[in-house]
Amino acid sequence: MVTGSTSGIGLAIARRMAEAGYPVMLHGLASASEGSALVEEFQERYRVKCGFSSADISSEEGCIQLVADSREALGHPAVLVNNAGVQFTAPAHEFPADQWQRILSINLSSAFFLSRELLPDMRESGWGRIINISSVHGLVASENKAAYCAAKHGLIGLTKVLALENADCGVTVNAICPGWVETPLIQPQIERIAQEESVDLDQARTRLIGAKQPLAKPTKPDAIGSLVHFLCGEHAATITGASMPVDGGWTAQ
Ligand code: NAD
Repeated sequence: MVTGSTSGIGLAIARRMAEAGYPVMLHGLASASEGSALVEEFQERYRVKCGFSSADISSEEGCIQLVADSREALGHPAVLVNNAGVQFTAPAHEFPADQWQRILSINLSSAFFLSRELLPDMRESGWGRIINISSVHGLVASENKAAYCAAKHGLIGLTKVLALENADCGVTVNAICPGWVETPLIQPQIERIAQEESVDLDQARTRLIGAKQPLAKPTKPDAIGSLVHFLCGEHAATITGASMPVDGGWTAQ
């Protein structure tokens, strides 16, 4: 089950896993017809069973709904990728309360509620993988991202606790911490720089990425998909509780 897999990194993860033969539960804020089109495309292209849910996971009920949809479509999910996430930027002293709540609930609480729902089956079957898509902002801070940094740091804390609690039963829990990945999530930040600094979108993208990443190239979403696939494989069986930067050297500084 890959949350937020109708777009960006989540879609790339879902594609990589389907390509490797895993049945995939697709999920995200898309219409029923967009969801069915995606399921059809996946089933035709990758020849694996797929399902889709548009549950809004900003609430506990929404998370429970996603788990129910998933069990109905595919049975018990043995791999959970907590990827869905949103962004909003403003200085903390101007940060709207509703944006704070929205980011904390989607980027952090959903990972807790979904893990809580799926862990009993993973523990009982003796195998499971939980992979949390955190961010460099789970390891270091940037201004104007109070809620996002708080949620992503929290997600790393949750990763460590779940890794310890489930170390005895074949379930590993890890976090991936990407730097800039070119997806719709970062588009508003590119557009803001273009407007504020009167440059075109390409220049704005280079400025945004180069300001933090020594290796001033965005990571391709597929690279995150391949790392998720590796974490599900035999050679990653003893990797647990880790937070892995994929950040062009950002956190090496
Ligand atoms: P995106 O905007 O392309 O996709 C976000 C996905 O989350 C979509 O499928 C959307 O439908 C889903 N979603 C959002 N709110 C939801 C809700 N309430 N209920 C259900 N689904 C919801 O984003 P992305 O760039 O692919 O980001 C994916 C993850 O990677 C996020 O957690 C993000 O914080 C993290 N990340 C992204 C970058 C980057 O540079 N793009 C860097 C580091 C970490």
